Amino acid sequence: MRTELIAANWKMNLRRDTAVDLARAVRHAAEGGAKKREVLLAPPAPYLGPVREALVGSAILLAGQDVSAHEDGAFTGELSAEMLLDEGCRFSIIGHSERREHGGESDELIGRKVRRAFDVGLGAILCVGEKEDERLRGHERKVVERQLRAALENVQKEEADRLLTVAYEPVWAIGTGRTATPKDAAVMHRFIRDWVGGRFGAATAEAIRILYGGSVKPSNAADLLQSPEIDGALVGGASLKADSFSAILSA
Ligand code: PEP
Repeated sequence: MRTELIAANWKMNLRRDTAVDLARAVRHAAEGGAKKREVLLAPPAPYLGPVREALVGSAILLAGQDVSAHEDGAFTGELSAEMLLDEGCRFSIIGHSERREHGGESDELIGRKVRRAFDVGLGAILCVGEKEDERLRGHERKVVERQLRAALENVQKEEADRLLTVAYEPVWAIGTGRTATPKDAAVMHRFIRDWVGGRFGAATAEAIRILYGGSVKPSNAADLLQSPEIDGALVGGASLKADSFSAILSA
């Protein structure tokens, strides 16, 4: 039985005080909630420390929003996997469509980031998903398969079992207010799970969490999360307000 994970991606938002306030409010909601779900926050990197302090003693997980493919060295502006571990992160988001789009990240680079994270025991929330024109042309499976193959090319089964979470995030649904229907999302989640099964075996496919991301909000969270194929959510915009994120946690 997979425990659902609700992950907040705060992107480049908030300030130290508002980040800490939001972390405290999420903690309050998570600890008071009836649902047995894991909760994860991915704050902007400079606020990892203050947010971690606000979460001391709670079960809420911390994640980076990105990680470098390199070991320590002359890589100005980058954050190594070890630094994220040092700051208390158990995971990093890797391959978010905004990094693919604005950061020009290739499938190959994302594969190296996953490899680097796994080398030091940092978990990955690996984001995959098609753009609108790719879906309109019926290429969504082909695109997601290409992304999975490149990202996980050098990963061993034992690492996937221990460290891998996948987030299916159709690009046309991110930050647009448009959401995949629970049925369409479930079809893609099944496709991803079957692919994972072909690559790592049936036990890994059964154990791995596949989150849905793309305009998840209080009004659609329950419908999405009731699908047995959907093991949680990666939430952007609606994670920036305590009331909307709390409503998703209890949906
Ligand atoms: C995201 O950034 O991963 C995301 C899903 O954003 P939003 O919820 O705003 O669509």
